[in-house]
Amino acid sequence: MKILLDENQLNAGVNQLALEINKTYRDRPLTIIGVLTGSVVLLADVIRKLEMPLRVGVVQTSSYEGSQRGALTINTQMMLDISDRDVLLIDDIFDTGNTMSEVVELMNALGPASLKSAVLLCKTGRQKVDWRPDFIAFDIPDEFVVGYGLDYNDEYRNLPYLACLEPSEISSTSEITESSK
Ligand code: 5GP
Ligand code: MG
Repeated sequence: MKILLDENQLNAGVNQLALEINKTYRDRPLTIIGVLTGSVVLLADVIRKLEMPLRVGVVQTSSYEGSQRGALTINTQMMLDISDRDVLLIDDIFDTGNTMSEVVELMNALGPASLKSAVLLCKTGRQKVDWRPDFIAFDIPDEFVVGYGLDYNDEYRNLPYLACLEPSEISSTSEITESSK
C-alpha cells in the first residue's frame, strides 16, 4: 500500500487542527460530537490537545452499499444534549459531503448555540454539497484511503498512517453489505 500521510505528518496536521479549534473557542465550553466509527482515532488524538471545558459524545451513521447505496441511518442514542451548547462535529473524511450534511441538519434541529464541523481529510473534487467543514486538516486527492480510523470492510482502522488502497486491492464484487461508516 502506498503511504499518503505518515505518522509525523498526521501528528502535525492534528496539532494544527487543535490549535485552530483552541483559537476559535478559547475558554468557551465545547461539546464535541464524533461520527462513529471512522473518527475514533482523530477524536482520541484531538481532544487531548484541547484546552477548554469539554464534553464528548458520538453519533453513528451507517449506510447500505451496493444496490441500496444512499440509505443513511443516524443513531443518536449516545449523542449528549446539544441544545444551547457550542457544538463541534468531528468526522474522518468529507467525500461527497452527504453524510455530514445529513448529520448537520439533524443536529441543527436540536437547537445548538452554534455548530461547526471538523474533518481530518477532504477529498478534492468530490463534493456534492455547497459547503465545506470549518476545520480541515488535509486536502487529499481522489483516492480510496485507509488507516488512522478509516476502514475497508471494517479492517485497517488501526494503521498509524494513512494509505491508499490500490484498485486491485479493492474487491470488484459489490455485494449488498451494511457498512458502518
Ligand atoms: P460522504 O457522505 O462525504 O460521501 O462520505 C463520508 C463517509 O464515507 C466517510 O465518513 C467515510 O466513512 C466514507 N469514506 C469516504 N471516502 C472514503 C475513503 O477514501 N476511505 C474510507 N475508508 N472511507 C471513506
Ligand atoms: Mg465516516
